[in-house]
This record gives sequence, C-alpha cells and structure tokens, in this order.
Amino acid sequence: MASLLWRVAAAATVKPICLRRLHTVYQMAELPETHQLLRDTCRAFAEKELAPVAAQLDREHKFPAEQVKKMGELGLLAMDVPEKYGGAGLDYLAYAIAIEEISRGCASTGVIMSVNNSLYLGPLLKFGSEEQKRKWVTPFTDGTKIGCFGLSEPGNGSDAGAASTTARLDGDNWIVNGTKAWITNSWDASAAIIFATTDKALKHKGISAFLVPMPTPGLSLGKKEDKLGIRASSTANLIFEDCRLPRENLLGEPGLGFKIAMQTLDAGRIGIASQALGIAHAALDCAVDYAEKRMAFGSPISKLQAIQEAAMAKLAASEAATSIAHKAMQILGGMGYVTDMAAERHYRDARITEIYEGTSEIQRLVIASQLLKAYQG
Ligand SMILES: Cc1cc2nc3c(=O)[nH]c(=O)nc-3n(C[C@H](O)[C@H](O)[C@H](O)COP(=O)(O)OP(=O)(O)OC[C@H]3O[C@@H](n4cnc5c(N)ncnc54)[C@H](O)[C@@H]3O)c2cc1C
Repeated sequence: MASLLWRVAAAATVKPICLRRLHTVYQMAELPETHQLLRDTCRAFAEKELAPVAAQLDREHKFPAEQVKKMGELGLLAMDVPEKYGGAGLDYLAYAIAIEEISRGCASTGVIMSVNNSLYLGPLLKFGSEEQKRKWVTPFTDGTKIGCFGLSEPGNGSDAGAASTTARLDGDNWIVNGTKAWITNSWDASAAIIFATTDKALKHKGISAFLVPMPTPGLSLGKKEDKLGIRASSTANLIFEDCRLPRENLLGEPGLGFKIAMQTLDAGRIGIASQALGIAHAALDCAVDYAEKRMAFGSPISKLQAIQEAAMAKLAASEAATSIAHKAMQILGGMGYVTDMAAERHYRDARITEIYEGTSEIQRLVIASQLLKAYQG
C-alpha cells in the first residue's frame, strides 16, 4: 500500500509535506471506522499527554505512571484481551495502530505498553488456564499494574533455547535459580512471565514458563540499566535465588516454555515494528517542522530534498526508523545534536528496535528459514 503511494508521489514530484498529509489520508481511508477512531484518540492522547513530557521523562529516567494509568483507562494496556477479562476486546490491527501513535508521542511509553500487551498478557491469554487468566490478566488491564517478560539471560539473548535458569519441583513448589537479563518494565512490574529449564536433557524442549508475583522472596532486581534510548522504561536483571513458586504457577505444560516464548515473540515483533514506525514518524515530523521554518542559502529546497529522502525510507520498520531518525538529525544540523530539539531523542530511541525481540540478523534468519521451508515444500 505505502510503496504504491510513494511511487506515485515520487513520479508526480509532490512536495514532501503534501506527501505526508496524503499518506495519512490514504491510511485513514483504508481503515475500518473503529480503527480510525482509535487512531484519532491515540494521536490526541500522545500529542496532549505524552509529547510534552517525553523529553523530561527521558532525562529523568522516570516511569510515566500517571500516563500509563490513563492509558489503562482508555483500554490501551490490554487491547486484544476479551472484555470478560477486563480488556478492550480489539484486534492486532488496533494494537499496531495504537503502539505507533503512542510511540510517536513517547517511544518509552510505547515499549512499556507493548511489553504489557504482547509479552505479558499475550502468552497468558493463549496458554493460561481460566483460573490463571482471572488472577494474572484482569488486574493488569487498567494501568494500575503492569507485567514483564523474562527470557534473555546474561549468556544468551538470541539463543533463547539455552536457558541456564533452572526450576525444580520440591513438593508443591518450584524452586527457581538463575538470572534473567535486560528485562523491560522490571522495576515497575507487579508480575513476570519467566522461562527456566526444568529438564536439561531435553534442551529447548525442557524449558517451561512460570508466573512470578513481584515482589516475592528469593527474587531481587539488578541495577536499573543506564540506556542510550527508551530511558523512561526500566530495564534490569531479575535475579532468582531459591525463589519458591507455587506449583500452579506453571504456565502451560512442562516443556512448553520455548514454544510459548517463540509464539509470544512472533506476535510481539508486530508491536516493535509499530513502535519503530511511530519513532520514524516523530523524527520526520521534527525534521519537516524545522525545515519549513529554516532557510539555508536563502532557500529551503536542499532541506526538503533531504526530507523526501528520509520519507522514502519509511518503507520498512526498524532499520528505516534508525535511518529516518539519522537523517532527521542531519536535517537539523547542529540543532539535531542538542537536547533542545527532540531529534536527538528519536535518534537514540530508534536504535533499540533493531535489537530487542530479536536482532535484525535473527529476523533475517527467521525469514530465510521460512522461505526455505516454503521452497522445500
Ligand atoms: C533495552 C532492552 C530491553 C530489553 N527487553 C527485554 C525483555 O523485556 N525481555 C527479554 O527477555 N529480553 C529483553 N532484551 C534482550 C534482547 O532481546 C536481547 O538483547 C537480544 O535478543 C539480543 O541478545 P544479546 O544481547 O544476548 O545479543 P547476542 O545474542 O549475543 O547477539 C550479539 C550479536 O550477534 C548476532 N547474532 C547472534 N546469533 C546470531 C546468529 N545465529 N546469526 C547471525 N548473527 C547472530 C546478533 O544479531 C547481534 O548482532 C532487551 C534488551 C535491551 C537492550
């Protein structure tokens, strides 16, 4: 859809600023009415409640508790959760639209929302028992509590099947030992879904998923990581030392953990792609706005050409987001490098979308293996 638009627009040499409006109109025309309304609501919320405070939240590494609460009230923290469990009962298209708009206002808030929706609530909805859904889903839908997802470890991020965290049964309890690394939302979360090896001999088929209340004895948090971007979201290690969990906190069957993690990430990546689009959009907004006001050598033309180049790059998500944010910074010249303007924050925020929920290299491996499967029939 977008590529056709850009090709037509490029052929007609429409000014980039018109392109942007045309693109928006084009997208709006394609969406069902509910989704258009949702986009309007999220856009208005992001412009009013997020964009004005995003720089301060980033500077102070501050979790946006007030904004998250309001988003919960709007249904944005549990978008495809059925209404009977307290969710908005919408679909994944709605989720993608909302994440893009929220991330356009504040990328940190975008990832906080994404982790709660797809990494925490997602696997619970798919693999949780009815009792688990009542206990672990409903209280996490309205923004008062959020969840996190602990798969990566200090020794293995891309190779998730090599979990060295262990869980063993002792009577009616699981005893968990090990460290989960880089966990988004960890400092602000009230629960985690974590993955631990329950049968080492079975390798990735011996990994199981667990529901962990936070705080709980035997679980401590590492230091809050001082990150390049998305700084208002917390990232830290979850350290388990003889942490006892009730037997019923197993999510799904024993040995199903790797499958749960992979299916969760497949869905979660849609959220990260949408987050990348939101950041790209914000960077583009910033560059267009600046270039419209700024005259170089008595003419804005050279700046506008650069913007058009940046706009063309908005065809793929993560790598395009980094590229657009890079170009947006360039368009602003020296002003792009200082914190007075949002361009430098978009530049920092964009980079993570090429790393978490699978690096770009891992995405290429996933795509290649799917292509190979299709080819081999
Ligand atoms: C800010 C932030 C938030 C995060 N949030 C979470 C979270 O909430 N929950 C969670 O579980 N994890 C989280 N992560 C972890 C993230 O998913 C991992 O960092 C990511 O999967 C990469 O793993 P790694 O850091 O161990 O790098 P490695 O796996 O060591 O990779 C290093 C490099 O090697 C490349 N590489 C690795 N294997 C291959 C291969 N087979 N072929 C080609 N290249 C390869 C990678 O692409 C990368 O370039 C987060 C990370 C960050 C930085």
